[in-house]
Amino acid sequence: MAGAAPPKRQDTRKFFENLSGEGKSIAVLTSGGDAQGMNAAVRAVVRMGIYVGAKVYFIHEGYQGMVDGGDNIKEATWESVSSMLQVGGTVIGSARCKEFRTHEGRLKAAHNLVQRGITNLCVIGGDGSLTGANLFREEWSGLLDELLQQGLINEEAVRSNSVLHIVGMVGSIDNDFCGTDMTIGTDSALHRIIEVVDAIMTTAQSHQRTFVLEVMGRHCGYLALVSALACGADWVFIPEMPPEDGWEDSMCQKLSEVTHTTQYFNTHS
Ligand code: ADP
Repeated sequence: MAGAAPPKRQDTRKFFENLSGEGKSIAVLTSGGDAQGMNAAVRAVVRMGIYVGAKVYFIHEGYQGMVDGGDNIKEATWESVSSMLQVGGTVIGSARCKEFRTHEGRLKAAHNLVQRGITNLCVIGGDGSLTGANLFREEWSGLLDELLQQGLINEEAVRSNSVLHIVGMVGSIDNDFCGTDMTIGTDSALHRIIEVVDAIMTTAQSHQRTFVLEVMGRHCGYLALVSALACGADWVFIPEMPPEDGWEDSMCQKLSEVTHTTQYFNTHS
């Protein structure tokens, strides 16, 4: 965090010894669609933050909690992230927040952070959440100036909170974020799909039926494609490669030749 260069292998130990969060405050939030693994990410932020001596805050209910402030922003302890590593969803809550898309909403959020001296923000979310975080970072100094003009904060607060550092952790089951090998939640989602396919296969075989399985993904076919490969599906429909005209006939022809077929769609969002 805070612009520290990544350590070389032999320097790793020294790097961690020298890493200090003394006097810093970090806040962590989960935003947008939930993904298995978000809790593990929250836990890692809290425990590492406390380990290096920083004050760590939860922001409950995503950006909504940051805009509303109050009890939504609470200090975290080492124990407050116990027993959540394996739990799905996000225990600190997620939300979609219209207000944060507005300048007024982001101004309120900045005020809530400055009041607590939080200048390090870890956002665990998808494309939208991370776009919002980046916008907030870019606007930060302008927001502080506005708060100063409105008399809500003083010059000392502007000076001591002058830069907002953000870290984005990609929480998305779609594995659709450039530069990230595997996004948080993708592996668990694939695992769950294969469990479901295994369960369906026995019924398909018993009744010589064809099953159609729809998976999540909206505009991204990653889950459909990879799980179709893993379970040997006969057909896969993905948005990146829409079917050609007349696909209905060729699919019916193929299905009349084989039984026990599982097919995939990923139009669900
Ligand atoms: P995801 O992060 O899973 O892609 P959304 O696209 O719904 O989910 O974004 C989650 C939240 O992030 C939104 O409800 C909104 O508060 C914030 N957000 C998304 N896009 C923007 C944006 N362009 N500017 C500001 N905030 C945004």
